Amino acid sequence: MWGEVAMPWDRVWCNANLMTLDEKRGGLGIIHNGVIAAIGERIAFVGSMEEMPRRLDAREVIHCRGRWITPGLVDCHTHLIYAGNRVGEFELRAAGATYEEISRAGGGLHSTVRATRAASREELVAAALRRLDVAIADGVTTIEIKSGYGLDIETEVRQLQAAQDLASGRSIDVIPTFLGAHAFPTDWCGDRRSYLDFLCGEVIPLIVRERLATSLDAFCETIAFTIEETAHIFNTACSMGMRVKLHADQLSNSGGAALAARFHALSADHLEHTDENGVQAMAAAGTTAVLLPGAFYFLRETQAPPIAYFRRHLVPMAIATDMNPGSSPLISLLFAMNIAATQLRLTTQECIAGVTREAARALGRLDTIGTLERGKRCDLAIWDIEQPGDLVYYVGFNPLAARVWAGKSDMTFVTKFTGQR
Ligand SMILES: [Zn+2]
Repeated sequence: MWGEVAMPWDRVWCNANLMTLDEKRGGLGIIHNGVIAAIGERIAFVGSMEEMPRRLDAREVIHCRGRWITPGLVDCHTHLIYAGNRVGEFELRAAGATYEEISRAGGGLHSTVRATRAASREELVAAALRRLDVAIADGVTTIEIKSGYGLDIETEVRQLQAAQDLASGRSIDVIPTFLGAHAFPTDWCGDRRSYLDFLCGEVIPLIVRERLATSLDAFCETIAFTIEETAHIFNTACSMGMRVKLHADQLSNSGGAALAARFHALSADHLEHTDENGVQAMAAAGTTAVLLPGAFYFLRETQAPPIAYFRRHLVPMAIATDMNPGSSPLISLLFAMNIAATQLRLTTQECIAGVTREAARALGRLDTIGTLERGKRCDLAIWDIEQPGDLVYYVGFNPLAARVWAGKSDMTFVTKFTGQR
């Protein structure tokens, strides 16, 4: 029945097909001929036209003409802020050098560290904005960005401050993560113990005190931090109230997934070499698997993450770009979904959930974003597609018609969206 109460809704999107991703509805949580209403930045109603409790009378009514709406996309693992580029390394790799060989030779990541240390905060922001705008054009409304190209206090702090600057300049949520344990900096001359003491004794306390990040990531691998070193860093971070996540088992099965689970990590990421014990540990701890198909593709890996084990043990699977200059210069989450489907054999439904609900879960934000449910922030991506699978199927095709962040439309796309179909 139409209600008698005066309409408090600010905006209503009607005549839309919704992929709510609401777990209570099952599958993609599809509602045909659906309506979303927002009050301020929050979703006030999600349902079909028939279920709508009151007269359709809002300050702004947007007729979607049968287009599909998903939650705004969430990229839950990126290294978006850095200086320089690694095209030369790309060319070397094409000539046969491996990621590990380039890293051991002091190239790779350390060349990005040198360039990033030399860049000002403004230069870091300007370089990252070009990449961020591509993500925004793909329908991304929340993006995680890691530090980890400073490996000294000044630059790590500058990277995290640049992440805050990015958020203030665009209609997007930026979630910073501290990744001081990305690699051992060469200027510590192999003194691993002293760098660990520096990280745990000085840098992490500063990051927490200055509220620059609430979560900490580490790279646990033969070419980076050992299990014991990572555990030491995690102990410090957890004792100061940070949540942790881990680059785990990318190049070898080092027990990273199990370690992440031991610390109730938000996510364990990569996981190409994780065994079933590691997956079971993640399931028991509630740790999300973040798949990074861009790195798998770009490094021409052949060992895929254990998708069958994740399904068997009901470990949620998120998909992210891992946007970084060395191993995954991929900005498009849409393309990441396609690689996940074609190379890792995820279903289209798993892919769409992976860049929305499960990515929000991987960031510990599922209570506020990632699905279309009443009370959540009204972050929407409106797509000019015929069916959900179109988002995964096409390669190099961006059907975004409009993007809404915190209840407000991006004007750029409103123009396109209201055009003739
Ligand atoms: Zn990464």
